[in-house]
Amino acid sequence: MNKEKQCICQDTQRHFLFRAFDSLGLEDAHRELLLASFRETRFSIPVILRRDGRDVLRTFQGFRVQHNHARGPFKGGLRYHPEVNQGEVRALAQLMTWKTALIDIPFGGAKGGITIDPAELDKTELEVLTKRFIQKMEPLLGVHQDIPAPDMGTNAQVMAWILEEYSKSHGYTPGIVTGKPVELGGSRGREEATGFGIACITRKVISGMSLPLDEARIVIQGFGNVGSHAALALARMGGRIIALSDVHGAIHSAAGIDVEAARAHQAETGRLQGLPGVDALSNEEMLELPCHILIPAALEAVINCDNAGAIQARVIVEAANMPVTHQADEELRQRNIVVVPDILANAGGVLASYYEWVQNLQEFPWEHESVLRRLEQHLLRVYGEVSHHAGENETDLRTAAYELAIGRVNKAIQLRGF
Ligand code: NAD
Repeated sequence: MNKEKQCICQDTQRHFLFRAFDSLGLEDAHRELLLASFRETRFSIPVILRRDGRDVLRTFQGFRVQHNHARGPFKGGLRYHPEVNQGEVRALAQLMTWKTALIDIPFGGAKGGITIDPAELDKTELEVLTKRFIQKMEPLLGVHQDIPAPDMGTNAQVMAWILEEYSKSHGYTPGIVTGKPVELGGSRGREEATGFGIACITRKVISGMSLPLDEARIVIQGFGNVGSHAALALARMGGRIIALSDVHGAIHSAAGIDVEAARAHQAETGRLQGLPGVDALSNEEMLELPCHILIPAALEAVINCDNAGAIQARVIVEAANMPVTHQADEELRQRNIVVVPDILANAGGVLASYYEWVQNLQEFPWEHESVLRRLEQHLLRVYGEVSHHAGENETDLRTAAYELAIGRVNKAIQLRGF
């Protein structure tokens, strides 16, 4: 994320948080405690790289911010990206605290990362870098202390290296990290969990609006892990996906897109555009299409002051993190467009991570169906709590979600006497 986007996102997150602090009537001292990180650590990670036939020493900066552990061990991803910095990692760690509290799983919040473009390193160099990072971070980690996961620029292979490095001094410990390959204790269903969760929540939200899924026109921006699995699940549930997009542009068909065919076309050509029987349009145009449901599943701040007035959807389901700026959020609210907030909508990923950790502690892997069934039940229960709280307090889903999450963390802090 570039600096400008980072500022917009941090501003947006603070706005939503402070609105909930105000509506909860929290004292300043409690606000301070909720905002403060438990621990912020910065690491220098020296690695020797082979460049143009010579050994070159490079020192990378790594971070781990452990925000809050009032409700359970710190939990959060590791991001490898050239613009990773302490401020960004701190904001993302806080978001994890609210997300785990909202879905009521026994974790706190953390985030970490390395300032690096992973494409600069070959696989062996990435392995060395990751293992050095874990050697330095090892005193902070533990199955009941801090459990990393993948984030932007990291994947199941990186998690496998973390497992290996940690297990050298602690014995085989799959529960030290989630998002692992299934062969090393990863959970079945983890890959599609976030997109599947989006689909389940979307179906539930529109059922309350008397809009049958098979009559709804759906637009999804982003066709990566989250967007493609949300599209596949919604299509299987009977939804009509009228537009999809990736970084290269969008495709549209009023009659509905065959999502499986789109996936096959993308796998073959590297892009969605060019799929037979669809029109091409830009990512910006697709957001303004007439539709019932809009699912931004790519980037932050794509719905902002410039286009909020032109959005025609009845419901926006935030699959990406922070796709709607706080100014746009206000405008959408005035226009009675329902926004399902990211901390609720995309929580299927961290929920599946929790299931993975539970399976590792139990040393008992669950069946694929069982993971998805539990996930759906759990997310719908949380959605029910949030919409009930919003109705009782005459507020929107986002404020309700933040109030519930912050209230739970605050209560745990008081009970433990932090
Ligand atoms: P991904 O990298 O797999 O996919 C991203 C998609 O967005 C790709 O299709 C890419 O082509 C597209 N894209 C990139 N730049 C774009 C642009 N300028 N315009 C339109 N499309 C663009 O990522 P993902 O894992 O699917 O994550 C998507 C979002 O969901 C991110 O905000 C991520 O933080 C959030 N999220 C992901 C998970 C998860 O489990 N993967 C969980 C919670 C939140």
